[in-house]
Amino acid sequence: MGWISDDMQHEGAPRVVDLLGIVQDFPIWEIPAGRDPEKLQVRAVCGCGWHENETGTVDCIPFVLFADGTVNVEATETAVRRLWQDHVDMLALASAALSAAEMLAGPPMAKLKTMEPLERLRTVRHVRLGLDVIEREAVIEARRTPGQESWAKIGVALGTTKQAVYERFREAERKAIAEGPRCQAANAEDPTPCEGDREAVRVVDKLGGEALGCVHHAARLYATLEDPRVYPNGDANNGKALEVYHRAADLKPWPWDYEKNGADS
Ligand SMILES: [Zn+2]
Ligand SMILES: [Zn+2]
Repeated sequence: MGWISDDMQHEGAPRVVDLLGIVQDFPIWEIPAGRDPEKLQVRAVCGCGWHENETGTVDCIPFVLFADGTVNVEATETAVRRLWQDHVDMLALASAALSAAEMLAGPPMAKLKTMEPLERLRTVRHVRLGLDVIEREAVIEARRTPGQESWAKIGVALGTTKQAVYERFREAERKAIAEGPRCQAANAEDPTPCEGDREAVRVVDKLGGEALGCVHHAARLYATLEDPRVYPNGDANNGKALEVYHRAADLKPWPWDYEKNGADS
């Protein structure tokens, strides 16, 4: 009846403790008749030794009770398991931090120590800026993975709160999305971002070449090609192809050149 960590290194279990801190020999789901659950507490212990020999009522929590005073075993176990999960998460973070510290303490640190103070400070500043960039890139990448990591998880990884990381990185995320990879229909000379679904329509030229595109870039491509055709991508007949056709009617070929010159003059 144990909890096993993802890396199989920790096996946790709940343990019942009375108010004097004496460990009881029955599991939480088998409170003997006659024992008052309000006079018992529960603690998480781990096979790695964490809290195994703890005395007193340190880190114990009360049983979760139903309105009628009986024990809600499931809620109690969930609450106590959370304490054990924190222990596992903390150790994982600590070991990641330790290997990072070892890495930094290696040859680069030895070299750093031989530098003149001002040179050392400049180097420290560059390392810090470099770490900021690595941090930002990692956050953006985490947010872009297909499952998309939550701000809460990113906050835990950075040792801070969900609110703090959101405040710090939402602008960078917004920018990354705006500057992200564009649809196939976007011309390399055209600086504008995509609009909506990057594979909304298929634009085909008269030789049969084709590109998937967002409505914005597809319209610009359509206006530029000779005898083009535009089709919905897949079987979604959502009017996007027609929208491209109408937008293109208002555009000149190579509209980005025209806009650039217009802006310059
Ligand atoms: Zn453990
Ligand atoms: Zn596009």
